[in-house]
Amino acid sequence: MAKATRITLCSFCGKPQNEVGRMLQGSPGVYICNNCVDLCKQFMDRESAKEQQNATGEIQEQKLLTPSQIHDQLNSIVVGQDHSKKVLSVAVYNHFKRLRKGEVKVDLKEKWQDVELEKSNILLIGPTGSGKTLLARTLAQLLDVPIAITDATTLTEAGYVGEDVENIVLRLLQSADYNVEKAEAGIIYIDEIDKIGRKTENVSITRDVSGEGVQQALLKILEGTTCNVPPQGGRKHPNQEYVQINTRNILFICGGAFVGLDNIIRRRTKTNILGYNKYDGETEDNDVVQKVAPEDLLKYGMIPEFIGRLPVISVLDELSMKDLEKILLHTKNALIKQYQKLLAMEGVSLRITNDAVRTICNKAIELKTGARGLRSIMEDIMLEVMYLTPDMKDAKEVVVDRSAVLGKRKPRIVKNTEKSSGKNTKDAA
Ligand code: ADP
Repeated sequence: MAKATRITLCSFCGKPQNEVGRMLQGSPGVYICNNCVDLCKQFMDRESAKEQQNATGEIQEQKLLTPSQIHDQLNSIVVGQDHSKKVLSVAVYNHFKRLRKGEVKVDLKEKWQDVELEKSNILLIGPTGSGKTLLARTLAQLLDVPIAITDATTLTEAGYVGEDVENIVLRLLQSADYNVEKAEAGIIYIDEIDKIGRKTENVSITRDVSGEGVQQALLKILEGTTCNVPPQGGRKHPNQEYVQINTRNILFICGGAFVGLDNIIRRRTKTNILGYNKYDGETEDNDVVQKVAPEDLLKYGMIPEFIGRLPVISVLDELSMKDLEKILLHTKNALIKQYQKLLAMEGVSLRITNDAVRTICNKAIELKTGARGLRSIMEDIMLEVMYLTPDMKDAKEVVVDRSAVLGKRKPRIVKNTEKSSGKNTKDAA
């Protein structure tokens, strides 16, 4: 039998030695990689800054993370999407640099005083479940700023039935615990922005309430305006008290799948390479959508002024089989790790075989909902186990194999009295 090589994994993020810089050992079998050490240090610093702040009542400025630090930290949570991570790290760094003028390394008072740094709102284009919202949410967490996540399809122009655009700002204020200063430096993520495209390229005589009108309504807040936000929410009415929020420094990230955009680009570039909608296990680096230009978005139905307010555009790849496996097993909050934690609270361990993992990922690919499908598939598989184990005194281990994933039988619950086979090479976790 071939001798097994021992791979040292970080006990925090699960990455192997060859994917990190350095690995420190604690007690036997326990390791931590340099990335996790940095992450812990930043967390501890932030916590002690908060404690200090509570003690003195003063606001301590958090040190601005550099683009490469932002990128590194995104890596422990978001799988793949390397180019988008880079684009976002730089955009977000510059955005916050613009806000925290005091932190620049060089005193620029004289020469650059009159040059105004413009806000760089971001447009993320990528298939559903590829990590657009996750990227926005993780960035907000890393930077310790409030975030409001909303769906463009629920928005309407003021006065129409639906949610007023200004209500998004209210959500941000709520997420900032009604601290206006914090809200004014927060992030607003607007999902499904592609759904408010103008329906046709022809200008219609009747007003386009759901599409163009909402884009028009969003323009102002994207650029920077003072919103009068009713703190209780709902429709505005006279005699109501308003909180004034300036959106000038709020970073807007818009996301959308833009289905069919590849055809528009192909028509323009007249190339014949496949765009997304193709899972071959590897991401396509010359994806057609990567070639997106503002004129394609215009054709898609976005109005020029709106496109103009989103100067940073980044395209996310469809997640590959390998990416999905990582999301299932190895990210900081990997789904399997979450189930392992939940079951560990009952004193039960969870084993999953390699072919079960592959089958789950294949199923997710068939669903065409990216990593989003993984959760619903896992919920299905684990429902019975999560229902039964809390009542079982003698459960010791749950084994998920391919048959359990295919629904041919339930995952096996091994009891204390039975011999467990222990983890073997066929197991993924
Ligand atoms: P969308 O691109 O549609 O906004 P989300 O970011 O909402 O997709 O993804 C849904 C869920 O799928 C996330 O909460 C996360 O658990 C998982 N997920 C999606 N993409 C990734 C990724 N690149 N890395 C890690 N997890 C991901």
